[in-house]
Amino acid sequence: MQQFHDDTESRKSTSRAETVPGVREMLTTLISLPSISSASAEWDHSNEPVVRTLGEWLEALGFSVELLAVPDMPGKYNLIATLGSGSGGLVLSGHTDTVPFDDKRWQSDPFVLTERDNRWYGLGTCDMKGFFPLAIEAAKAFTAADLKQPLIILATADEETSMNGARALAEAGKPNARYAVIGEPTSLKPVRMHKGIMMERLMFEGQSGHSSDPGPQWQRQPHVPYGR
Ligand SMILES: [Zn+2]
Repeated sequence: MQQFHDDTESRKSTSRAETVPGVREMLTTLISLPSISSASAEWDHSNEPVVRTLGEWLEALGFSVELLAVPDMPGKYNLIATLGSGSGGLVLSGHTDTVPFDDKRWQSDPFVLTERDNRWYGLGTCDMKGFFPLAIEAAKAFTAADLKQPLIILATADEETSMNGARALAEAGKPNARYAVIGEPTSLKPVRMHKGIMMERLMFEGQSGHSSDPGPQWQRQPHVPYGR
């Protein structure tokens, strides 16, 4: 865990707040920082540059910023940024990772925010780096003194793969707020709650054989374990 500063009063400095860029510039920066998560090591990136950048902007706006290393996941971090204090509060949550990309199917550089046909293209513009500039822009209107309960911006790691970022937060019991808005794309229709997911892995050990003839000859076949 790293504290960017120890001023829990989170007083906004007007001059520092002015250093936080606008929505388009924030998104351009976030898109330029690769943060692919993948079960394949050759694709997998650290999300540290993304969370550090978010942390710098949020700290300049008076948020108290924590970076939490995800256990046993080198280079992966969750960020919790809090404006105001006390119990309850509202969480604005997003994941910092993206899926991998297929170079041949892109009409522009996936790491360069590109405007075309009145849309912005880039890896993660919609799902879901784009949520952070919008949340931060909305937060610019407030100081800690304006808030009766805290406003918390949460950025998680590895949602597209292991979900270890969210798991680490759940195990740590952080953050503890009353409401949460998760900025996943839902075609601008608010969706309350979401189906869960359960993953199972089955491992069989033994010798393979055909059900029509499970005789001794099959037991001499090479050992073929399934699921490894
Ligand atoms: Zn997503």
